[in-house]
Amino acid sequence: MLKAVRGTRDLLPPDTDLWNRVESKVRDIFARYNYHEIRTPVFEDTSLFSRSVGEETDIVSKEMFTWDDRARAQSEKAQSLTLRPENTAGVVRAYIEHGLYKTGTLQKLYYIGPQFRRERPQKGRYRQFYQIGAEIIGPPSAGSESPARDAELLEMLATLLDELGLGGWQLQLNSVGCADDRARYNQALREALKPVVHQMCVDCQRRAETNPLRVLDCKVPEDQPIIEKLPKISAYLDEPCREHFAAVRGMLDAIGVPYTINERMVRGLDYYTRTTFEFTHGGLGAQSAVLGGGRYDGLSESLDGPKAPGIGFAIGEDRLILALQSEGSQSHETVQAYIAPLGAGMNVHALKLAHELRRAGVSADFGDENFRLKKSFELAEKAGAKYIVIVGENEVAADTFALKNLGNGEQVQVPRAQLVEHLRR
Ligand code: AMP
Repeated sequence: MLKAVRGTRDLLPPDTDLWNRVESKVRDIFARYNYHEIRTPVFEDTSLFSRSVGEETDIVSKEMFTWDDRARAQSEKAQSLTLRPENTAGVVRAYIEHGLYKTGTLQKLYYIGPQFRRERPQKGRYRQFYQIGAEIIGPPSAGSESPARDAELLEMLATLLDELGLGGWQLQLNSVGCADDRARYNQALREALKPVVHQMCVDCQRRAETNPLRVLDCKVPEDQPIIEKLPKISAYLDEPCREHFAAVRGMLDAIGVPYTINERMVRGLDYYTRTTFEFTHGGLGAQSAVLGGGRYDGLSESLDGPKAPGIGFAIGEDRLILALQSEGSQSHETVQAYIAPLGAGMNVHALKLAHELRRAGVSADFGDENFRLKKSFELAEKAGAKYIVIVGENEVAADTFALKNLGNGEQVQVPRAQLVEHLRR
């Protein structure tokens, strides 16, 4: 039997009803905060990710699905392509490519779509997973560097999780400073690692040389006591970065968004500057991060674009659904009316009635003229129908139908012309 590839999965009903409920809720919230959708390709030039996410990150060094795409015509060049492991790089590439900065205003963009990483599959961690993300990006003159943007974005996330009905989330906040701070911090890490690095895993030994910050991403249990004792980034922030972080915290306090400072959280991507954050949820087990994000003030320039500070996040939609389900969120979209044709020749009448109801905006489904009434009732219940409508020879002749409320058992005779009104109640 052919099966879905390891680390990928089929999303099936009724789970997909919950996925759709989440997606329509987030679209509604994005509209309320004046975000607009962007859709970028699922694959990009490999260098987009190595130059933004960073060569030494887990994502780029071992998790990307990359292939050499050969030329099919003389006019084409062979190139290395990669299934996108995240979407911020693609959004910033599109921002530069289409000159979105020329408007001089802030761009508030959101996306919903699949991402691909060759990670070790487990609950909440897949090789094809889905992210719901958003970015606020623009020239500094449009206010893109303002701590108010960080606070606005974090407040929206709190609202989003609250309105989805997810309780028990925690916002973890940190600042990773700017490029200068990072250089000084990396130097300090290099020094601190010198006497101990020979006891660490081979990845850490390499990173201690190339990009010491990434040592903090190490998951090897034996390395954790060493990592615990390394210097913290907070001691290396310069005055403007310190002030920026203080302003973000002050605004969150002012609007009542609760958070905890987590000085160890540096996030596994190189482009982050200043504010970084994660929302975690207890119902997720080991993979507790529902979403993550941060500021990326130098990303556009590193992709040959103009100065365009920004901040964004990506929600792991798979994990958000798991978290909601762990709190008992259910979803099963139901139909309003289930039509039961009774006896030979009744299918066409059921079809006609279903057609009229659906055209009038009432959700409906119908059974089959060969089903016994008992079976139709069972199917109506399975579909979660509020009403069953019986379509037999007498009903058709009288153009009046027996309508039974499956909730309270009440049955009434309703003329065709009043059915829609009755079912809408
Ligand atoms: P990142 O793009 O690494 O900052 O991740 C943002 C969010 O995406 C995480 O907090 C997770 O919720 C989710 N995520 C990342 N990788 C995976 C994965 N392999 N499977 C499922 N969700 C993931």
